[in-house]
Amino acid sequence: TTALLHVDEMKTVFKTRLGPLEAVNGVSFHISKGETVAIVGESGSGKSVSALSIMRLLENSGKVSSGKVLYNDVNLNELSDEEIRKIRGKEIAMIFQDPMTCLDPVYTIGDQIIEAVKIHEDLSKKEYYERALQLLRLVGLPDAEERMTSYPHQLSGGQRQRVMIAIALACRPNLLIADEPTTALDVTVQAQIMELLKKLQAEFGTAIFLVTHDLGVVAEMADRVVVVYAGQVVEQADVYTLFSKPEHPYTEALLKSIPRIETKKSEQLLAIKGSVPSLNDMPSGCRFHPRCPYAANICESKEPPMFKIGEQRFSKCWLKDENMAKEMLLTVQQK
Ligand code: SF4
Ligand code: MG
Repeated sequence: TTALLHVDEMKTVFKTRLGPLEAVNGVSFHISKGETVAIVGESGSGKSVSALSIMRLLENSGKVSSGKVLYNDVNLNELSDEEIRKIRGKEIAMIFQDPMTCLDPVYTIGDQIIEAVKIHEDLSKKEYYERALQLLRLVGLPDAEERMTSYPHQLSGGQRQRVMIAIALACRPNLLIADEPTTALDVTVQAQIMELLKKLQAEFGTAIFLVTHDLGVVAEMADRVVVVYAGQVVEQADVYTLFSKPEHPYTEALLKSIPRIETKKSEQLLAIKGSVPSLNDMPSGCRFHPRCPYAANICESKEPPMFKIGEQRFSKCWLKDENMAKEMLLTVQQK
């Protein structure tokens, strides 16, 4: 393959008191060099678990139980802990929604960036300092020199996210996994961080795997989109096609739920009736059928396959089966 990252039929299972729970059920997609691919869905759909699975950062109870995660054709699942640690940070870096969970409150910003640089480069003390300072300037942190000796709590949320990005970039990763990188920030800072990521991508050719529930962020950042529902991919398309002509009823519903300026926060999610099913109680057939306005009998009894409906374009819905679709639409009309 020519893809930088190729995820093929990945399943992730958690051991729990209720027995094994499958949080990710056969997710497949790829990311090419320099590309931004967004994975989008409601919370609880398995987006973050997918990202953590790729990086092998799941807590002990979680495990990729089948499928492949190929990075430059190397299966990350088969690497030793030592080998995966070398890839993390050097080849693939990750930033999270809340930088406070990753920054160490007792070390200065400068020291934390220097630590990240040290993992992969052997430099003199002065060179480490210079490199860290250069990274802080690169991510646009004001008063970078002063900030070298600041502690995380002395920075704003947006500034901390810039520091996280500096740490992630310390090793010039080929792939940056960003899990809700702007969710905790106010709108203005959100826009600044997105601009920063795009600028860095243009400069270094970094591919970005963006985990988000926010379709505004998707529209702003992504080249291609992977829509997930209840641990499964339901649609894939380039960003323009997805927004202009969604093919899966779940995508359609998600797009309708985008808040308009005049809509109050509490009204946003009402566009999709019902809620994401829980892991120990998955609906039969198509997992979206209890919430789907087009659901027919077949949807309840038989899981739809992933239909290829165009170049890099897929939909997991019976409506894409020509024979099935006519009958189904007839039933909907009769309802
Ligand atoms: Fe809706 Fe059926 Fe398509 Fe599922 S398979 S999304 S229930 S129409
Ligand atoms: Mg999440």
